[in-house]
Amino acid sequence: MFERAKTLRDQLNYHNYRYYVLGDPIITDAEYDKLYHELKALEDAHPELITPDSPTQRAGSDLQEDFPKVEHPAPILSLSNAFDAADLQAWEERNLKLLAEGTTLDYMLEPKLDGLTVVITYENGILVRAATRGNGRVGDDVTANVKTIKTVPLKIPVESNNLTPPQRLVVRGEVLFLKHDFEILNQRQQAAGLPLYVNARNTASGTLKQKDSRITASRPLTAYVYDIVDISEVDMHGQVITLNTEQQLLTYLAQLGFYIPPESHYYPTLSNIIQQIPTWETRRDQLDFEIDGLVIKVNDRLIAQELGVVGKDPRGAIAYKFPAQEATTKLIGVTVNIGRTGKVTPTAQLDPVFVGGVTVSNATMHNYKFIHDLDIRLGDTVIIKRSGDVIPYVIGPVTGARDGSETPIMPPEQCPHCHTPIIQPDGAVDHFCPNPLCPERVFRSIEFFVSRGAMDIEGMGPQTVKVLMDEGFITDEADIFYLEPEKLIALERFGEKKVENLMAAIEKAKSRPFSQLLASLGIEGVGSTVANLLADQFRSIDALMAATPEEITQIEGIGPIIAQNVVDWFNDTHHQRILNKMRDAGVNMQARERIRAGDQLTGKTFVLTGTLPTMSRDEAKALIEAHGGKVTSSVSKKTDFVVVGDSPGSKADKAAQLGIPMISEDDLKAML
Ligand SMILES: [Zn+2]
Repeated sequence: MFERAKTLRDQLNYHNYRYYVLGDPIITDAEYDKLYHELKALEDAHPELITPDSPTQRAGSDLQEDFPKVEHPAPILSLSNAFDAADLQAWEERNLKLLAEGTTLDYMLEPKLDGLTVVITYENGILVRAATRGNGRVGDDVTANVKTIKTVPLKIPVESNNLTPPQRLVVRGEVLFLKHDFEILNQRQQAAGLPLYVNARNTASGTLKQKDSRITASRPLTAYVYDIVDISEVDMHGQVITLNTEQQLLTYLAQLGFYIPPESHYYPTLSNIIQQIPTWETRRDQLDFEIDGLVIKVNDRLIAQELGVVGKDPRGAIAYKFPAQEATTKLIGVTVNIGRTGKVTPTAQLDPVFVGGVTVSNATMHNYKFIHDLDIRLGDTVIIKRSGDVIPYVIGPVTGARDGSETPIMPPEQCPHCHTPIIQPDGAVDHFCPNPLCPERVFRSIEFFVSRGAMDIEGMGPQTVKVLMDEGFITDEADIFYLEPEKLIALERFGEKKVENLMAAIEKAKSRPFSQLLASLGIEGVGSTVANLLADQFRSIDALMAATPEEITQIEGIGPIIAQNVVDWFNDTHHQRILNKMRDAGVNMQARERIRAGDQLTGKTFVLTGTLPTMSRDEAKALIEAHGGKVTSSVSKKTDFVVVGDSPGSKADKAAQLGIPMISEDDLKAML
């Protein structure tokens, strides 16, 4: 135990130094937090283990010697962490015990922004100083740099409303790059032939601490403000300022012209908040800013004050941390994947590492340009990310962890499956195996063709496809429709029942809608939406094959690139052969006749949301279209009606916002 505490102290102090002094961390923030919390827990249980040099005795410091120092008017506190609902409930219970009996607590929920804390001072409404958090007591003076951030008001209130600024106001905020701004920044780096930035947070930190504020100004930083560190009792007119709740405080900040964290919400109970957590975890990747958790604050500021501070952490607020999405591990190998278009994707083989709730041992590196741009080498320690449903990917190397044994990674000279020389078309980012008969490419196309989102042939998983290819029964998609049950039964693990089901599924696939067949062919850019448009316009494969790119671009929603892809695909004799074989086997290649049941809904646009009582969404769509109406996927001012079923999504909220009539399935039927 004593030894473990010492090891943790040493490790943490070293990583602190790498992070703050060298600006070159070799572990992720999440990994640092993990070590930190282990030490903290150990010390909490055994206070005798605490030493003066323990990192828990200071809240980290980002101080740099060459910046003037600013003393904060009050300590800039950190928050204690919760990792699950039980932690949050325990937090509330502890608080309630400290308060008068019968007290009830309500809360504000805010996103926990993954940026850098800044402390900004306004005197009589004018920005006079801005500092980093530093060690929580003293920070670096970065006034000139913060002033370059467009979302930071230089004078408050920004709008000349009735609000009079406080005589003195010190706010706390977070400086970061919005995701799309970070992309733009990297595009500029790339265009200038400079190395790409890997980590948005570190880049924001480096940007904020530029000696030359013109450099800061040239990079698109954003600052959100969410707390008040210090405020004068009265405003400039001598009126007393009262902010009783966190909700009032945020509203007040917004009125003064600060950019407050989006999606901050009031909730009357903690269980309301706990219910929100899964939604936040899934939405996290869709937000334009990085968050690593949620902040939950006791809404009543007097109660929060009464709860006080334990150690460095105020009791009135807590940070709920999401599972770490990033981790570092060793890159031990690179394998090459060939896709159905021949595209070569290098895949990193990793020392297994636990991240985002699962153990990951490989991750995509996109293409060889990415590897080259980021200078990723075999043997490097790399940062990987796993979030949501996205395939884990490599973010970049930790160059500080190199020992010189790392070797460059080169694209393969030939396809590992068919040994055709690999090409990189002019101007393309990707490398390709150009051989359309490459067994791996054929396998990938067939695998895609039969998959659920495509022709949906049940019982024909990748394993089965592989066996049938190995046996020589299928060499392309069309061969599926020529399989003979007698031959299949002879195969290992192909029982009578299985073969019977498979043959039935194949038979069923022959009559799939024309649009579904189109979406299954693997034409670049032709997913179900484009396939529907094409099928609707051209009605048959023959008409589509005869179409020119100009004719195709006449369709609203299809651009010239996709149009050219379609024409090229159908001009390929290999593809023509496959289509002919399918046609001969009886695969449907025509759109069904448009059924016109009436024109009661002509000119009306509908959006469907939620589960309808008796119809599927597709059925409802067909019904509306058969009566001349149109169905779109998102609510806008052009929407006439939103058909709402059970558990409707955000579309219903949007409709309410825009004042668009919401109707039930019965209402819809009544209109016909
Ligand atoms: Zn190949």
